[in-house]
Amino acid sequence: MARTTEALFRDDAYQRTAQAEVVSINDRGGILLDRTVFYATSGGQPGDTGTFEREGGGRIAIAATITGETKDEIIHVPASDQALPAVGERLKLLIDWERRHLLMRMHSACHLLTVVCPFPITGAAVAEDDSRVDFDIPDASFTKEDVTVRLMELVRADHPIFTRLITDEELAANPGLVKSKNVRPPVGTGKIRLVCIGGNGAIDSQPCGGTHVKSTGEVGEIHIGKIEKKGRENRRFRLRFGPMPAN
Ligand SMILES: [Zn+2]
Repeated sequence: MARTTEALFRDDAYQRTAQAEVVSINDRGGILLDRTVFYATSGGQPGDTGTFEREGGGRIAIAATITGETKDEIIHVPASDQALPAVGERLKLLIDWERRHLLMRMHSACHLLTVVCPFPITGAAVAEDDSRVDFDIPDASFTKEDVTVRLMELVRADHPIFTRLITDEELAANPGLVKSKNVRPPVGTGKIRLVCIGGNGAIDSQPCGGTHVKSTGEVGEIHIGKIEKKGRENRRFRLRFGPMPAN
């Protein structure tokens, strides 16, 4: 039976540590807790890695975090050869914050890219150093230089980034909020989480369960490394950190 893990990262993406209790160990050695700061892979953002500290002093290295039967069931996958905790044991959770913060900056950067390129999204993958977003784009006039300039304008403006919940009915009344061509946000739970950029979400608002930085300035310097043609009307944009290399 699927269990619900309290997902602390949904309310505070900056929480790096928490105390939690082991609820169960699944048949593949995955650890389920009552609450967690570890983001589980979904929506194109990879799950967290990190460490569990045991009360006795031992450590358990966590190599991946995934969802189980439902998105509310979060499974922590230990690295190989780790001792497993007992059900009921109290653990101190520590995410690999350096990696997570890179993923937060990149995920927010991907949302900025959807502002600069307002076309249907056909795929996306956030990574620590090189993310990609695929769009259906009818015209091929975008250059990586122009897109980079517009992305950096949004970064330098330091717009706030925040989340808010809307109802299924509000989403149905605003179909333009959904930018993904193939993936629909889950409805039926009553609440949909929007990630908003700018005052009142004026720059962008879209359904997203990921973790984001609190302002566009925190994204830092980014550039488009490449725009690849993936079909007649499909373009893959690659986002990277740092200034655009001169060549
Ligand atoms: Zn997102």
